[in-house]
Amino acid sequence: MTDKLYHECYTHVCQARSLLEELSELGFSTITPVDSTENTLIDTAKPVTVSPPVKIETLSDLQAEVEQCHACPLHEKRKNVVFGRGNPAAELVFVGEAPGAEEDQQGHPFVGEAGRLLERILYAMGLSAADVYLCNLIKCRPPANRDPHADEISACEPYLKRQLALLKPAVIVTLGSFAAQTLLGVRTPVSRLRGQWHKYEGVALMPTFHPAHLLRLPLEKKWVWEDMTKVKQRLGNLTAMRSG
Ligand code: URA
Repeated sequence: MTDKLYHECYTHVCQARSLLEELSELGFSTITPVDSTENTLIDTAKPVTVSPPVKIETLSDLQAEVEQCHACPLHEKRKNVVFGRGNPAAELVFVGEAPGAEEDQQGHPFVGEAGRLLERILYAMGLSAADVYLCNLIKCRPPANRDPHADEISACEPYLKRQLALLKPAVIVTLGSFAAQTLLGVRTPVSRLRGQWHKYEGVALMPTFHPAHLLRLPLEKKWVWEDMTKVKQRLGNLTAMRSG
């Protein structure tokens, strides 16, 4: 299914769902289908039963839940849970690895040195942090910025999956090996995953190097630029498809 068709179907399903909820709140428990071509009631049709209103999870509900999380030992030393920042309606979502010291202190992702480099990359793409959404695979800081452990990843991964399901981006960019390997369910290093489009739950995913890697090896910036050029092109194509 194309991205455009997917988004159209999704919009119709959401509209139908909120209509059913509204009717249910108004006290309707059944709906009799109408023949839309004739605009008359189909008397032979069976009434459709409306189930009671379902509570739809929001990003703030999820954030509140993650802020109470004790699922792995990282909660013991955290100053703040680092959930995400930026535009929740953004088409483009970046998924990093885990918060560092400054992120833990401020409670927001990518506010340290790696974040400043990421903002420069966004600027070069003609974007700012307010145009995209930034989050991490792990929501609490691993001590001394060590790599996340497998049990920490498996405790936090369901939150990221729910967060992405709520954000519904058109494109995901993963930064570094951990986020790409977790979302794609592979062990391949980012150096081999990057530069090509992958799919996560039907969403286009581009793995690239982490900005912290670029701070250590600035010559690798050219690869990230190559990847971000593909991302820009894909977003441009989506905009053109929608307006044309
Ligand atoms: N590195 C990350 O992966 N995420 C942050 O939020 C900061 C640094």
